[in-house]
This record gives sequence, C-alpha cells and structure tokens, in this order.
Amino acid sequence: MSDNKIGMGHGAGGEVMSNLIAETILNNITKKSVNNGISLDALDDGATIPIGDYEIVITTDGHTINPLFFPGGDIGKISAAGTINDVSVMGAKPLAITNAMIIREGFPIEDLEKIIKSMDETCREVDVAIVTGDTKVMEYDKIDEIVIVTTGIGIAKKGEVIKDSSLNIGDKIIVTGTLGDHGMSLMSFREGIDFETDLQSDVAPVWNMIQEAVEMKAITAMKDPTRGGFANAINEMAQKSGVGVLLDQEKIPIKEEVHAASEMLGIDPFEVANEGKVVMGVKSDLADEVLEIIKKSEYGSDAAIIGEVIEGNHVLIETPVGGQRILESPIADPVPRVC
Ligand code: MG
Repeated sequence: MSDNKIGMGHGAGGEVMSNLIAETILNNITKKSVNNGISLDALDDGATIPIGDYEIVITTDGHTINPLFFPGGDIGKISAAGTINDVSVMGAKPLAITNAMIIREGFPIEDLEKIIKSMDETCREVDVAIVTGDTKVMEYDKIDEIVIVTTGIGIAKKGEVIKDSSLNIGDKIIVTGTLGDHGMSLMSFREGIDFETDLQSDVAPVWNMIQEAVEMKAITAMKDPTRGGFANAINEMAQKSGVGVLLDQEKIPIKEEVHAASEMLGIDPFEVANEGKVVMGVKSDLADEVLEIIKKSEYGSDAAIIGEVIEGNHVLIETPVGGQRILESPIADPVPRVC
C-alpha cells in the first residue's frame, strides 16, 4: 500500500491508525471541545459536554464486522454494546444510542430484522433506548453487506467522569474476565478451525458489571480493550498517565481454547479485540471489594487483580519463571474487521 493511500492497518487500532488520526484528522479540526469538557484531543473512549451539575458523555463508532453473524453475537449486538461500553468506561450511565445503517441493495430483510432485534435486546439489558437513526442503501457492488454507525450518550455527575489517563502509583489493575475471546473466536470461525469446546465472542454490555464500582468511586482509570486488545489498552492508560505497570502473567485470565487458537494461528491473545471486558485501575484499599462485586455480576466471574501501577514508563509482565518482559502496543490489530 503506497504511503498516501489508506491501508487496512489505518483502521486496525494500533500505531498506524494513531498516526493517521493525529496527522490527518486532529490537525484539521479546529474546535474540539464544548464548555471545557473532555475533548477530541484526549482520544479517550468518549468526550464530555458539561452542563450544569452534569456531564453528557458522548461517543461514536462505526461497525464493519465480518462475518455479520458469528459465535456469541452479530453486528447488531456489537453495534449496541460497542458504544454503550465506551460510555460506560467513562463512568457514565448509558442512556441512549443512535443507529445509522448503510445497507447494500439486495440485503435480506430477514437478516436486518435479526440485527435490529439483537441490538434491541442488548440495549434492554442495560435500560438503554435507541432514540434516532438513519437508513441508507447503496448499490450492490459499492458496499459490503451492511455498515452500522452508532452514537452512545450517557450522563455522569460533574467531575465524576473516569478518564483513561488517571492511573496512580499503587493502584491495582483489574480485568473483568478472560482476554482475547472476541478476536480469537472470530478468527477461528473465519478460518474454519473447530475446537472441542465452543469458543465464543464475549460481546456484551458492561454497565451492569461496573456500575457499583463506579458509584463507590473506587476506579481511577478505565478502558474497554477492544481493537488492539489488552496490550493496546493498558499501554495507552500507562502512557497517558505517565506511569508504569507491573503485571503477573499467571494471574491474567485466558481461556484454554484461546491459548490453543492463538498458537495455531500465531496471534497474540493480548493484541486482539475484546467486546465485553474492562481494564481498570482501582484504589488499592478497595481492590478486593471491587473484585468481589465484579465477580458476582453476570459477565465478571473470571475477573482478577492482575498487577499494579508502578513508577516508570513501561508495561512489564512478570513471567512464571521469574523474568520480566515489556508488553508493547501492537503496530496494528492482527485481525482485521473485528468490530
Ligand atoms: Mg473504548
């Protein structure tokens, strides 16, 4: 791919995409925030607009997943959960989403109905409304099946929004479940690899799982590790916060099937997307309590404290034999079109 054209890597959630965003997009936009809220420049999971005693949290996401229906979900579920989760990890109660769909001529109405029902079911789980939308159709050879763009809107009390850049030294790092499920299951499904146990996407709305911890004011920073995976999310949090992180490899939950798939496909489970997980920094004196709360929730049974925030500027992983290695951000998500 020549240097002056878009390549697949430009949409893959790694360094290549970050450079495109910084140089071509952010540089050419002049007004990036309202009322001193969190701006586009923060590149957080969402932005905020402070109004009175509250902050409106807003985020948007386009979905181009292939295939549309996959083990554990479909494009409707992921389109709803994607923006609901980005609002949720800002510490805001998700209220509503919008739904813009660009559909290919000839697309089965039956499939569209399945997608909408799935979207609705996902929203109902966390009491989110679908309040507005748009429907466009393109010629058969101009678009691949369907593209869905959703915008998520939530609300938080002023000053209580949780950023991804506010880890403090001594905080514990919690992940709310096993890593790599979405990207690895999608890739296995596409490649036609069969496992004895069903490997499924983890796509789900996370608000019910984290709400209580948010209200306890125990969380210092958080992100959903989607494109670019856990490696991207934890590095972004550490870099933006100006701290290091030390992780214990043995404590990081990964399913057996994900390990197996990752070896077979040569893909690092830390670098692929999760769609129903949260990575958070938690005040150390509240970490055990937060872990217990998350473990009791529907999607949090595999949650674990996996490390802590330290001085420094690297994310380090302690290996079972006692060595340490640096966990780098991926150049790009190794699996394209995962969300
Ligand atoms: Mg996010």
